[in-house]
Amino acid sequence: MPIATVNPASGETLKTFDALGAEEIEQRLATAHAAFRQYRLTGFDERARLLNRAADLLEQDAPDIARTMTTEMGKPVAAARAEALKCAKSMRWYAERAPELLADEHPSDADVKDSGASRAHVRYRPLGVVLAVMPWNFPLWQVVRFAAPALMAGNVGLLKHASNVPQTALYLEDLFSRAGFPTGCFQTLLVGSGAIEDILRDPRVAAATLTGSEPAGRAVAAVAGDEVKHTVLELGGSDPYIVMPSADIERAARTAVTARVQNNGQSCIAAKRFIVHEDVYDAFAARFTAGMRDLTVGDPLDESTDVGPLATEQGRADLEELVEDALRRGATALCGGQRPAEVEGGWFYAPTVLADITAAMRIHHEETFGPVATLYRVSDLDEAVALANDTPFGLSSNVWTEDAAEVDRFERDLEAGGVFFNGMTASHPALPFGGVKRSGYGRELSGHGIREFCNITTVWHS
Ligand code: NDP
Repeated sequence: MPIATVNPASGETLKTFDALGAEEIEQRLATAHAAFRQYRLTGFDERARLLNRAADLLEQDAPDIARTMTTEMGKPVAAARAEALKCAKSMRWYAERAPELLADEHPSDADVKDSGASRAHVRYRPLGVVLAVMPWNFPLWQVVRFAAPALMAGNVGLLKHASNVPQTALYLEDLFSRAGFPTGCFQTLLVGSGAIEDILRDPRVAAATLTGSEPAGRAVAAVAGDEVKHTVLELGGSDPYIVMPSADIERAARTAVTARVQNNGQSCIAAKRFIVHEDVYDAFAARFTAGMRDLTVGDPLDESTDVGPLATEQGRADLEELVEDALRRGATALCGGQRPAEVEGGWFYAPTVLADITAAMRIHHEETFGPVATLYRVSDLDEAVALANDTPFGLSSNVWTEDAAEVDRFERDLEAGGVFFNGMTASHPALPFGGVKRSGYGRELSGHGIREFCNITTVWHS
């Protein structure tokens, strides 16, 4: 994949970049390694000062960087601005909370004595240079949710961003540099994915985090496993959105539209499979389909646009194949099912609701990375849980119910890293984020996220 800004709303290549050569990569690895030796000695106060400064700058830059993101990957510009502001807020959150999240831990006196020590504690020390392989869908947020905790913990970052968001990638390096982080604390590597194996095998790289597709995750984890390096993987999702009879159907349907089409449908935590109890199926399906049909598809730089283009031509082709396979095998398109008639050029796809889904269809098992929803009818809670879990993924899940007994069952039985009741899945710095099954492992955000890239050190005194 060439490293280039290609506007998905028009298909026009706006800017291309040369990939770094071997010498430049070596220089950046050496710089990162040298930076870590010094940066690890800084205190929380100094790191927080720098991260808060980065947050201030990002807030000032939000309108401009939002336009860059939209031009590179097509998200509606208002959502891009909101993403920038969320990043700033999360930087501040980690700047403030890191000391408490990484405070030394003290076992009980009795346990210390039992271990034969006069005193003992647990200390969280940084790991070193962490390689972040990141996707284009939330080009700032995916990076910041790694970088903010990593930098507060005393690690340094090397970013290999997706090849279609190079300007956003370079902006991030510049942002941390302007904030005053020492040279080498955060660097962007403009390289293709083919360069990752050698970088990851380099002894100066301690660990890696990847957000993206399953094949990319598998490739990076295989190399890291061979090198015995820690990884966090945040891969795809096919989150269920379950609606039970006690739910507020109006609100459930309205939220369902947002949950499905956020970020033009290209979010790992978007609700993708809508599993509805038969008692409320018709009412929900009618409202949900009307909401999807009413969305404005068009230029993502236009403030009134709800759904912009898909980020890449390949992404749209993949989505079209899934929909066509489903329609061929008997699915019904309640709306959409094709490219929108009202927009020309670019990689647009109409918001789509598909019903009559069966296990024979690819769409039943695979992730739909675009504004396409699948709708299922179930007769009871057991069937809802079984269907929700009938997927290789396990990122998050959404349930609409007012019944306390049902809440308990869903919380106990859904195979996912999150269960969101009467709302849609969203990330927040205080809440752990990540999945099970093929959605990956490890957690980002919260105390769990910041400790992923720490050396959890036992300190024991006789
Ligand atoms: P990829 O997984 O290919 O890209 C994500 C990142 O991984 C990019 O930086 C990419 O680099 C890099 N990468 C890709 N292959 C390798 C590899 N073998 N070794 C090391 N790094 C690699 O995502 P796509 O853009 O191709 O999207 C395809 C699908 O992935 C989507 O349809 C969706 O299902 C899933 N996805 C999930 C995301 C999530 O948030 N969980 C985000 C994006 C995609 P480069 O760009 O240079 O190829």
